[in-house]
Formats: sequence, structure tokens, C-alpha cells
Amino acid sequence: MKARLTVLGSGTSMGVPTIGCDCAVCRSSDPHDRRTRPSILIEYDGHVVLIDSTPDFREQAIRENIRRIDAVLYTHAHADHLLGIDDLRPLSFAHKPGKLPLYARPDSVDFIRNMFRYIFDADYKFGGLAQVELRPTNGTLDLFGAKFEPVSVIHGETEIDGFRFGSAAYLTDHSEVPETSFQKLQNLDILFLDALRHKPHPRHSTVENSLRIVERVRPKRAFFTHICHDLPHEATNASLPENVRLSYDGMKLDFEI
Ligand SMILES: [Zn+2]
Ligand SMILES: [Zn+2]
Ligand SMILES: [Zn+2]
Repeated sequence: MKARLTVLGSGTSMGVPTIGCDCAVCRSSDPHDRRTRPSILIEYDGHVVLIDSTPDFREQAIRENIRRIDAVLYTHAHADHLLGIDDLRPLSFAHKPGKLPLYARPDSVDFIRNMFRYIFDADYKFGGLAQVELRPTNGTLDLFGAKFEPVSVIHGETEIDGFRFGSAAYLTDHSEVPETSFQKLQNLDILFLDALRHKPHPRHSTVENSLRIVERVRPKRAFFTHICHDLPHEATNASLPENVRLSYDGMKLDFEI
């Protein structure tokens, strides 16, 4: 079935421009150098699945005119992937009397429930809560006729989820892709990878490391995300192989799911 992927945000945890920074990328007039926090939207067969709800979700949803969300998948519970939960409110109300399902690994579910206790504990007296419910994942999810398979990646000292869905895969926040996960990345049309910058980082991949992953996986096209202010869009793209590009906020890609 046909699907469309929209990059809601392509930036690292602090976003680009970064607060208080005067570097060339943070001061750039190229709109591709404005990167909100990392998230994608997948649309198919009238349904809309969001991967991660960032602190920029409200701005992203207004920019892309998002009118519905049927499910949210979380890669992990770091703030830059999570803090937009409260801004799911207007879209979550459409699910009443049901709730908008939020899918995450069991460890992330525990963290989210603790962090957003006022939403999940049912003793909050001030109303206006997001109508959401946490559902721990345990293997491949079938959402509205499409399969979303978790792909484990190593993020510093923790293991988190990427996802494979149809001919596309989205891996963000990885310092390492374990051997067992490579088997899930065969015959891809589109592969998203973390590429924070050139300089090594203990919890993130670099451009060079992600290029090595692309060489091994051989997707038709690869896109880098979770990008910091070290990488100017145009100049970096000019240095990459033809089938590899930096993603950017608002980028749209069609694929088969
Ligand atoms: Zn992150
Ligand atoms: Zn900067
Ligand atoms: Zn993270």
C-alpha cells in the first residue's frame, strides 16, 4: 500500500538554531538549517502514525496541518522525543470516549507514566488532560493494516527502538546498530539514520559511521537525522554520496508500506 513519510523534525535534542549560539549554521538564512526536534509522521490508507512527540510537536503539527493522529510510537523516553505529549491534547480528543494509543517499550512506558503522572494517575482535578493511553510493545505491531517492527539500537548505555515499516526504516539516537538488527534492514527503499555531526559522541552516530551503515545495508536512499549545528545543510549534502542526504524539516517521501 502507498504511504507518505513527513519529516516533522530533523534536529538534535537542543534544536538548530541552538539557544545562545552565534555559529554560521545557527545564523544561516537557509530554511533547511532550521531543525526542530526529531520526529516523523507516516500516512497511509487514511491513517496517521506519529513516531515520537517532541517539545516542538505543536509547531510541527501547525506547520504540516496535521488533522488527526491514530497512534504514537516512541523510540525511547528522552525529553527531546517525548515532551510534546501534552500538545497531543487537541488531536487526542477526537478519540473520545476511547483514547489515543501511545506505544513504547516497557521501560519507556514506566518512565513516561512516572514523568506524566498527572495524565495517567486519574487524580488530577483540573481537567483538560490528553486522552491518551500507554500500551507496552512486545514485538511487531499491526497498526491499521501495516506492520511496524521494532529494530533495537544501542544509544550510549541503553537499548532503544527504531522501527521498520514496509520498505522504510527509521533509526534515531544510535551509537551502534547491533548485528541482529541488520537482518531487519534488508531491501529498504528508505533508511533514516542518526548522524549528529562529524565529531564522535558517546550516544550518537557520526556522518562517517552512518555512511558505513549505509554501505553495509545498501538501501535505495538514506537520510540522516538528529543533526546538530555542526552540519550546514547544503555544504554537507554536497559532500555525501548521491543516494544519501541530510533530511530536513518538512521533507516528504513516498514509499510502500
Ligand atoms: Zn534524541
Ligand atoms: Zn550554533
Ligand atoms: Zn536519546
